[in-house]
Amino acid sequence: MRCAHSFSRIMILPPSWYNEAMSEMLHIVCPSCAGVNRLPSSRLSEGPKCGKCKRPLFQGEPVEMTNATFDRHISRNDIPVVVDFWAAWCGPCKMMAPLFARAAAQLEPLVRFAKVNTDQEQGIAGRFNIMSIPTVIIFRAGQEIARQAGALDMSRLVSWVQSQI
Ligand SMILES: [Zn+2]
Repeated sequence: MRCAHSFSRIMILPPSWYNEAMSEMLHIVCPSCAGVNRLPSSRLSEGPKCGKCKRPLFQGEPVEMTNATFDRHISRNDIPVVVDFWAAWCGPCKMMAPLFARAAAQLEPLVRFAKVNTDQEQGIAGRFNIMSIPTVIIFRAGQEIARQAGALDMSRLVSWVQSQI
């Protein structure tokens, strides 16, 4: 049995498309102002800042998405977006929240981590037919590519995301 502590940063390998796309231009949606930035993929890991609001494009934490910003984050980001559908009254959601934030810090900038409060954004929850929470959905180019219902521990969350991107 493998202990969660053995899951070190060293094991995080970029997906094949990341290396192939090293010289490509990528669109990254700003977590602060939702502005769409265009930058070379080689600069992703250099702490890039938003051209509009000047805040970091990767802040090591999930982006809180609303109805106003959801579609832009899902469809305009050229990196996969991992979305946690949650609610304040949900115990397992609360337990998973700090792990989800840690996973964000570990896997950015290969992946964007984001959250949707299903009480406040019932339209989005309905659109994706969220039957139970927490549910985590991975989007790529606006399309759902994988879904996991129920809380995940840290190592399962990271390995599942890595297996899908
Ligand atoms: Zn910005």
